[in-house]
Amino acid sequence: MMLYLIWQCLKCGYALVAKDPPAKCPDCGAPREEFVLIEED
Ligand SMILES: [Zn+2]
Repeated sequence: MMLYLIWQCLKCGYALVAKDPPAKCPDCGAPREEFVLIEED
């Protein structure tokens, strides 16, 4: 069973579905600390 979470960048609003937040926002380059968990399933 895989668990996927939705992470959102606080700086630019970019969101992605992943197990872990990205090391860097692919859109604005913000560090991982800028990502917040917005949903889990
Ligand atoms: Zn961003």
